[in-house]
Order: sequence, then C-alpha cells, then structure tokens
Amino acid sequence: MKNPFSLRRRANLARPWRWLVPVLLVLLFLAVLFWLPWQARQMESNERQEQLIADTLWVEQTLRFELARSEEALATLGTDLVGKPPAPTVLQARLAQLFKNGPELRRVLWLGPDGDVLARHGTDLPAGTSVPSQGETREMARLTRVGRYTEPYGATAHLPGMLDYYLPLYRDGTYAGSLLATYSLKVLLDETVPWWFAQDNALALLDRNDMPVAARADGGPGRGIYTHRRPLDLPGASIVLATDSVKNAPRLLPNLLVGSVIVLALGLLLSLVTLWRHISRTLAAESALRQQMAFRTAMENSLITGLRARDLEGRVTYVNKAFCTMVGLPPEELVGKKPPMPYWAPEVRGDYEERFAGVLAGTITPQFETVFQRSDGVRVPVLVFEAPLVDSRGDQTGWMSSILDITDRKKAEELNRQQQEKLEASARLATMGEISSMLAHELNQPLAAISSYTAGALNVLERADKAVPFEPTSLRRALEQARQQAQRAGQIIKSVHEFVKKSEPHREPVAIRDVIEGVRALIELQARQSYVVLQLDLPAQLPPVLADRVMLEQVLLNLTRNGIEAMAGVPPEGRILEIAASADAARVAVSVIDHGHGIAPDVAERLFSPFFSTKAEGMGMGLSICRTAIEFHGGTLTHAPNPGGGTVFTFSLPRPATGGPAELQ
Ligand code: ADP
Repeated sequence: MKNPFSLRRRANLARPWRWLVPVLLVLLFLAVLFWLPWQARQMESNERQEQLIADTLWVEQTLRFELARSEEALATLGTDLVGKPPAPTVLQARLAQLFKNGPELRRVLWLGPDGDVLARHGTDLPAGTSVPSQGETREMARLTRVGRYTEPYGATAHLPGMLDYYLPLYRDGTYAGSLLATYSLKVLLDETVPWWFAQDNALALLDRNDMPVAARADGGPGRGIYTHRRPLDLPGASIVLATDSVKNAPRLLPNLLVGSVIVLALGLLLSLVTLWRHISRTLAAESALRQQMAFRTAMENSLITGLRARDLEGRVTYVNKAFCTMVGLPPEELVGKKPPMPYWAPEVRGDYEERFAGVLAGTITPQFETVFQRSDGVRVPVLVFEAPLVDSRGDQTGWMSSILDITDRKKAEELNRQQQEKLEASARLATMGEISSMLAHELNQPLAAISSYTAGALNVLERADKAVPFEPTSLRRALEQARQQAQRAGQIIKSVHEFVKKSEPHREPVAIRDVIEGVRALIELQARQSYVVLQLDLPAQLPPVLADRVMLEQVLLNLTRNGIEAMAGVPPEGRILEIAASADAARVAVSVIDHGHGIAPDVAERLFSPFFSTKAEGMGMGLSICRTAIEFHGGTLTHAPNPGGGTVFTFSLPRPATGGPAELQ
C-alpha cells in the first residue's frame, strides 16, 4: 500500500518543476520575440551600409571615369597640339567641344614650355586665386611625363572647389609645354552623380585635411548613421569621396508583420496568464474541496448516528460507518440495494413495507421508532429521522435518514420501569403497618356487630332455659345478622387485600341507594345506641357509579360513625344525622351531615393524616381510609361546616361514560 504522506511529498516536489517549464518557455518565447525585430533591424542596417558602400564605390568609379575620359580627351588634344598645331579657330572649336562633353571643366590653358599661355578657353579664375602646389605639380608632371593633379583648392564662398590637372606635352622627347585643365569639383559632383543617389545621400569631396571642397545634398544633410569614405585615386591629389546617408536607422517595428506577431504574442501571454490564474483558482478550490471531504469523512466516521441516503426509488445511495456497524453489514452490501433490505426484521416487515410505499409515494414519516435486525440476528431498536435530500438546484433527489441506536435507552427505560414497580411494591409494603391498622379499624365494626348479635341469640336461649317460651324467629334473625356481618368482615379483608396488591378495584355499576341500604341496619344500630335519628334524603332517580361496593360501604360507615360521635355532646333532640345524595352531568355526590361540634381550624389541617384523632379511644384512621378509597375511584372527599351547626362530609364520584348501564334507583 502506498504511503499517502510520501505521495503528497512527491506532489509537492513536482510542483515547482511543473511551473518552471512553462515559465521558462514563456521567457524564451519573449526573448525570441524581442530578439527577432532587433535582429531584423540589425540586418536591415547592415544591408543599408553595404548598399551605401557599393553605391559609393560606384560613384567613385563614375567620377574617376569622368575625369579619365576628360584626361583622354586632353591627351588627344595635346598630341595634336604638339604635332601639328591647328588653326586658332579649330582649336577653339575643339576646346568648346571638350567643354561641352565635360561640363565640370572650368578652363583649359595651353601653356608653352616656359609657362606662358598659348591658348585658353573657359572662365578665368578670380584674380589672386592661390593654387597650392601648382609649380611642383607642373614640374612633377614634366619629370614623370604623365598627367598630374594639384591638391583641390578654392573651397570658399566665392570660389567653388577647384582642381587643376597638368598634362605635360613632349615633342620628340622634348618638353613642349603642358595643358592645364581646371575642374570644378562641385559641377563634377552635380553632373556625374545620378539624382537618385544624391537624393538619398549627402556627398562631399574632402581634401587631405578632411575639409570639404565640394558637396552635394539634394535630400538634405546626412544623418551620420550610414557613412562611407572612398579615396579618389587621382595622381598627385588626395581627395576622398565621403557619403552620408540621409536615412535614419531602421525602426524597431518596421512592419505590420512584426507588429501583429507582437500583438498575437501579447494576446497569447494574456491568455496564458488568465489560464494560469484559472488553474490556480481551480487548484485552490480542489484543495479546499479535498480538505472539506477529509473533514466530512472524519466527521462521518466519528458520528455515532447512522446516516443513510436513498434515491427517489428507495435505492440506498450512501451509508456511513455508524450505520454499517448498526446493521453489521459492509457498505458494499448496502449501497445500490433496493427493498427488501437485509436488515429488515421479519416480525416488523409489514411496517417497513408500509413506510416504503409511503417513500415511493413521496410522503414520509419524519420520525419513527422501529427495529433493525443485525447480521448476527440481534434486534436493534432504532429511532429514525427522515428528511428530503435536495440538490444544489433545489430539486429533490431522494431521502436522507439519520438513525439512532436506542438499545441503551430502551434498556434504561425497562430498568426504570422495573425499579418503579419495585418501588411501588416497597411503598405498599411500607404501608403494611398502616394497612394492618386499617384492617383492625374496619373489622372492628362487623366484629362488634357479630358480638352483639350472638349476645342477643344467647339471651334468647337463656330465656328458653328459664322456661320462657322459645322464640325461634328472633333467634334465627340474630344468627342471620351475625352471619351477614361475618361475611362482611370477609369482604372487608378481601377489599383491603385488593388495595394492597394495587390491582384495579373490582368496579361495577353500583346504585348509591343500594349501598346505603346495605349498611343502613348497621348505621341505625349505632345511631340507636347514641340516641341519634337517621334521615335519608335521596332523589328518586340517581345514576349509578362504577365502584367497588364494599369500599363505598366502608366509607359511608366511617363518615356516619364520625358524625354520630361528633353529636355525643349535643342534647338528644338535636342529634340528627342526614345522608343526602345528588347528581349532575359529571358526578354523583353523597353527603353525610351532622349537627355536632364541628371542626376547629387546627384540626381541619390534619384531618386526613393517618393516626390523627381528637378522641380518647380513636385510631385516627377513618378519614385517611375514606379519602384513599375515594381517590382510588377517581373521586374526591371534602368537608365543610354545616350552616345549621356541625359538619358536612361530601364524597363525589365520576359518572360512567354515556352508553353505560341505564340509571338505577
Ligand atoms: P377517629 O374517628 O378514630 O378519631 P378519624 O380519622 O375518623 O379518626 O377522625 C379524625 C378526627 O377528625 C376525629 O378525631 C375528629 O376530631 C375529627 N372528625 C371527624 N369527623 C368529624 C365530624 N363529623 N365532626 C367533627 N369532627 C370530626
């Protein structure tokens, strides 16, 4: 496996080279781009220089040729003058012809051996014109017997540059004088040099001191860029032909081609820079994306929440690590799968299919609990949250679910429930003491009743022993009553047992009138002993209540006994105990009204507390039991002062829902 670190290092190392090559190429391209016009300019410059040299050479040849032609004509004339001198008119005609052929000629003199002028033609020089080296030149010509030039002279404002030529004449080997021709160098230049050359170049003839003696510059002064000097090969004279082109150095961008190449190159450069910037931006975005991806992957892997994405057809398109762990399957076995999924538990398959049909129809349950089956068969309770998956354009492409493994939560809930049950059981056991007190209290009454009924029966039997006539009816009634009370005691024990077990009370539709009738005999027994009159105020129609009848009887017995005991201190004529009942749409209420001593505020505060009693022999359990029993039935027990003196205790019970048994009497 490749080490990602080394890969990254290699990528980092390769990066400078990746950029270096194009940068070098671009630099090279730019160098060539700038070198090419420079080189072209250089070549053009050389070409111009070479052209100038060739032209100068050609002009020099032309000048030389012109002078040579003139020399030749003079030589012919000289030969004729020495041999057979022509008549003066003929001579003048020939000289005129000579001038016509050579406009540069200013004058021609025929000098005798002593230097005297034998004939002349042309314009004479201004008087006093000094001709340097005139004597030596003539002498030199005579000695060497060849024609010879003087140094140029007379290059002043008044006198254009002149040049003398001495041609020695010999007759039979004897010096016979000479011909002197004076040339105007300016005219020589004007007449000999073609116009096109003079237009492009400034020409000058320089003497040995580099001083111009004649010049021509039709196209203006030379620029001093392209120049050439060429000596005129004239015996005796040192004259240099100097040419200076009027042309400038060639411009750097001489033509459209180079210009367009540069524009194209600049365009190329610009697009390269743009491309570079674009690539840099793309690379930066790519790097940011890679970082984002790494961050996302790390985040997904660290999640304990399972993630699952599905397309609109229900095909799984993505699962994270936590989801794979949850169902015990690798991603390859999940991604691309369509229902039924391998993690569906068979027992809840119906639910899955129903929900999946919803997904296909485009509706989902945003949150639900279900069970997954792990690959090893273990059931995993999960909580699933579903949300639509929307792409960057806002179109829904599927569904995204996040799944929480709630195994621990379920276990905790179960544990909690068990503990709660245990706690409740313990709480009930803790009230065992209270319950035994309750039993003792509640059984007191039936036991006392049984005792008094059996005592009555024994009295009957004793009287029979004393030969009083035997009364089987009264004996049977007493025993019957005792039996009923014994049964009642049994039922009380059963009720208390039910209550301790905290099982639901045995509820049945009970008519209040029946309840009162059931304990009326006992209440009256106690009332009679205390000289209390019992009054009943029951409406003809009373709806039944759903209740445990024995419990209600016990409540009534407790309340009536308390009422009877509260009236112990009032005169016998005022001892009236009333039981009244009423009903509204929701509840049935029963009140026990006495005319006793009432309840003081400090007593009222603790009235329902177990073992609270103001009586010397009281257990203080009666009201506590009554309230527990009534609340057990979903009802309430309250008390209020009786406006006519004494207290009113009222319990009310909810009426059963409509559709229950018909109203009972
Ligand atoms: P006990 O009757 O054994 O004292 P109860 O729980 O039945 O226990 O009653 C608690 C106390 O409430 C009584 O001691 C008494 O002071 C007061 N009490 C109950 N009923 C009445 C009543 N009808 N009138 C006045 N006081 C009452």
